[in-house]
Amino acid sequence: MYNSIKIKEWLINLSKVYDENKDYLTKLDADIGDADHGINISRGFGFVREALNKDENASISSIFKQTAAMLIKNVGGASGPLYGTFFLNAVSVSSNKEELSLNDIAEIFNKGTNAVSALGKSKAGEKTMLDTLYPAAEAMKNNADNLENFKKEVLISAENGMKSTIDMIATKGRASYLGERSKGHQDAGAASSYMMIKELINIL
Ligand code: ADP
Ligand code: MG
Repeated sequence: MYNSIKIKEWLINLSKVYDENKDYLTKLDADIGDADHGINISRGFGFVREALNKDENASISSIFKQTAAMLIKNVGGASGPLYGTFFLNAVSVSSNKEELSLNDIAEIFNKGTNAVSALGKSKAGEKTMLDTLYPAAEAMKNNADNLENFKKEVLISAENGMKSTIDMIATKGRASYLGERSKGHQDAGAASSYMMIKELINIL
């Protein structure tokens, strides 16, 4: 079971990883987008870190609510509202809970991923963050009864999902403007989602 301190640790660690990978994520977005994904996401999570550090006694659902609000309010690109919506959906799953189980975490990813898909009018196979999130959410659901399997299977599913975007042709987001020429490049949002999942696995 994972309490608010653990959930906060996940998101604050993630904000540091996004800072460290700002140039890498921006480079991925430069190849097939507008070269701002690393800037957007590290800036957004900088606000998240600041809000969470200020609010020492926040409940898990309040942590997710503040995360969503900071991303929606402060990130200009498509990824802000998309990730914001993901975390907004985690609020109801965690409301009144002092601790989350692996099943709860699986439910958060399942619900959040469907919400991203609904907002983005997008589905798996279109070379977006969803190609990391869907297989990871599925692996979470299938392995919620065993921590070691959960960690191993979720990480490998997320990594394979991220890498699967290399060969895809983008049909959503800015990369879709390139059509066939988007092939051969890994999607930036798929990479930032992989980092989000990797940092989650690290606190479990
Ligand atoms: P922008 O595209 O507005 O510059 P970012 O560069 O921050 O925003 O984020 C781009 C990422 O957002 C893409 O790599 C992709 O993973 C994701 N994305 C863009 N549009 C969609 C969509 N409709 N559905 C799901 N994900 C999307
Ligand atoms: Mg961009």
